[in-house]
Amino acid sequence: MRPARALIDLDALRHNYRLAREMSGARALAVVKADAYGHGAVRCAQALEAEADGFAVACIEEALALREAGIRAPILLLEGFFEADELTLIDQHDLWCVIHAQWQIEAVEQARLSKPLTLWLKLDSGMHRVGLHPADYQGAYRRLLASGKVSKIVLMSHFARADEPECERTAEQLALFQQAREGLSAEVSLRNSPAVLGWPQVPSDWVRPGIMLYGATPFEQAQEQAARLQPVMTLESKVISVRELPAGEPVGYGARFVSERPTRVGVVAMGYADGYPRHAPTGTPVLVDGQLTRLIGRVSMDMLTVDLTDLPHAGLGSHVELWGKRVLASEVAMAAGSIPYQIFCNLRRVPLLYFGG
Ligand SMILES: *Cc1c(COP(=O)(O)O)cnc(C)c1O
Repeated sequence: MRPARALIDLDALRHNYRLAREMSGARALAVVKADAYGHGAVRCAQALEAEADGFAVACIEEALALREAGIRAPILLLEGFFEADELTLIDQHDLWCVIHAQWQIEAVEQARLSKPLTLWLKLDSGMHRVGLHPADYQGAYRRLLASGKVSKIVLMSHFARADEPECERTAEQLALFQQAREGLSAEVSLRNSPAVLGWPQVPSDWVRPGIMLYGATPFEQAQEQAARLQPVMTLESKVISVRELPAGEPVGYGARFVSERPTRVGVVAMGYADGYPRHAPTGTPVLVDGQLTRLIGRVSMDMLTVDLTDLPHAGLGSHVELWGKRVLASEVAMAAGSIPYQIFCNLRRVPLLYFGG
């Protein structure tokens, strides 16, 4: 069997969830959209369900998959519904729903429901993607309350630059939010992972941690709180072939690496078809039999090559960690000009193996 696989440490997932709660002193919706950032939404939600205050997903398809797997906890649709007729399913399956646009308010008013909804009313406080304009916020809140279709409204917004520790924009967004919600007594949810880790002064009754649950930092620089996270995924494989090359020989497509000295090359069963980033350059860290070495040459679809020259005991069958507890996904992502969010989401083909269940 091909040795490429991703190990998912569910104890680490629970550790990170507890950290999100502890750091914020708030209730936390575990964000498991995009198949839990590639970690497997059903298994991750099952591992957290006994303690989680709820979950958050991008769309009703993702929510229904969790319900079908028996998850009973609250599930929030982060973009609400895309079409008004989803409200029937939202009602049926007790889903919580973000409202970010005027047309969604009208759809709620017209919906035929068996019971009132829990809605999260989103303000555009400056990210300018989705959310209601500040001038419309209070009116939207009152309209929803008056509709008779709503049992609870949580006030929410989303930060564009919370991963930049020195950036004033987060405080500006917070001020705009506070101004727009003036006088409304309702629970508040503002913080994603970088805001949980880096903005303790931002008030929140509910936080929405995503990437931090999976143990990866959203920051480009080292950050004290992020250092407490435990990586959840280990992407691993094995050396399946070894080459001894003299100096001056090319390796792989495009001869992107040419040996500067006599070089032992290890070929690893892992490629961009598994989600390993194709743009990871020569020098990207990789662990072979527990020792740090480097990627060399271009990543191909099913294989990549590593430098074994200084690891004389490594060879055929050696264990390779592409990212995990020692080589961080965020380091590999950074080397490849990406972010840990994307390299996790790109994962495919490799079987996910769970432990700590
Ligand atoms: C994805 C998402 C989150 C989680 O973001 P992280 O940076 O992964 O913590 C939180 N809130 C909203 C609205 C989201 O779309």
